Amino acid sequence: MQHNWSRYVRWIIAFLIACTGVGLFFGEPVYGLTIGLLVYLWWTLAQAKRLYHWLGNPDGGDEAPQSVGLWGDMFDGLHKLHQNHLRTQDKLRAQINRVQESTNAMRDGVIMTDSRGAMEWWNGSAEHLLGFRRSSDQGQFIHNLIRNPAFKAYFDSRDYREPLELNSPARPHIHLQIQISLFGDDDRLIVAKDVTRLFQLEQMRRDFVGNVSHEMRTPLTVISGYLETLVDNADDLPPKWRRAINTMAQQSSRMEALITDLILLSKIETGEQTISDAVTDVKPMISQICHDAKALSGDQGHEFSINIGERHLLTGDQSQLRSAFSNLIFNAVKYTPAGGKITVTWNTDREGAHLSVKDTGIGIDPVHIPRLTERFYRADPSRHKETGGTGLGLAIVKHVLLNHDGRLEIRSHIGEGSEFICHFPRERLAERVPETGS
Ligand code: ADP
Repeated sequence: MQHNWSRYVRWIIAFLIACTGVGLFFGEPVYGLTIGLLVYLWWTLAQAKRLYHWLGNPDGGDEAPQSVGLWGDMFDGLHKLHQNHLRTQDKLRAQINRVQESTNAMRDGVIMTDSRGAMEWWNGSAEHLLGFRRSSDQGQFIHNLIRNPAFKAYFDSRDYREPLELNSPARPHIHLQIQISLFGDDDRLIVAKDVTRLFQLEQMRRDFVGNVSHEMRTPLTVISGYLETLVDNADDLPPKWRRAINTMAQQSSRMEALITDLILLSKIETGEQTISDAVTDVKPMISQICHDAKALSGDQGHEFSINIGERHLLTGDQSQLRSAFSNLIFNAVKYTPAGGKITVTWNTDREGAHLSVKDTGIGIDPVHIPRLTERFYRADPSRHKETGGTGLGLAIVKHVLLNHDGRLEIRSHIGEGSEFICHFPRERLAERVPETGS
């Protein structure tokens, strides 16, 4: 096109010279030139008008205007550009349609929102799982549609390492796992997965363990009772029976402890929603548990150090907290050789409240730490016969802390003792309850 430019300039000059020549023929070269310029101006304006109308509505179905010379080339160039643009647009639209079709085919709900939660796009499964309506929910804030404080807190937290589980607001029998990812300009991609089957299986497992433990408790109590009577009257028994009866009594009390812990764990697990919000004073509770732990230590001569800070009121279930704290403190006694030191500290800071149970005992190889709170997981399986533990203590601690929005931190190395720290959030700290009476 570039090389045509000088040709067009030459044509225009030739046209103007021709007009001047015609003018000269009639004795008025200036008129001839003026008329030539006016004709050229009129033609230019006519072409500009056609272009102007076409640009105003290039997709209106009209072909790009046709012309000759400079304007003809410009119209052709613009027509080509427009065609390229339409082709790219079609390609992009096809790609977007494909992405939307594939996300629509997904069984998981997918939702895109901006940083404040205004809904921008969602797929068909999100409509089914969460009850969104395409006609009315566009631009709505997602917290107004999923009215759940836990979801709002999760959305605002910006910490999406762990998913959130909740019941669908539209179909309460559907249990959803929600995972949020950040993308683009602080926007959110929300994926909602239907985990109802898994949830029901988990619930069945809990119920089964709870029911079996309950059913076993009564016959076991009877057996233990008779065994205890036999142990008490061991002198009347033939000597060859005495050892057998003693071992049976020991094992039945171990089974009783196991069943008590299983029932407790299943209660704590299922009681997640019905957690009491009574205020618990942890100071007398810790003192009492340490008193019992000294009795457990017996003549092993463990040295106890107890430090309890100023603020020691916590919102939560007293019996669950007692179970958790006593498991940690009794473990410290069980896994610390005679003469060792056990330090129990309760302190509060800007983050919340912290109970630390530190011992100078056998310690734990750090490879075991991530799995210690699993049921029946033992760092040193050969020792559990000695300690007589059920293997459920730390699982109980973990669930109690989950129920209280807390978490368990474990610091330990083989031979260097262990420290178990229960962290509770600030919101769990309570102000002093008013004295009753005067
Ligand atoms: P157990 O009834 O076996 O004590 P827990 O769930 O209470 O079960 O503890 C799980 C495992 O964690 C224990 O078997 C033990 O290996 C380890 N453990 C717990 N507390 C301590 C501790 N204070 N020092 C060393 N190891 C510990």
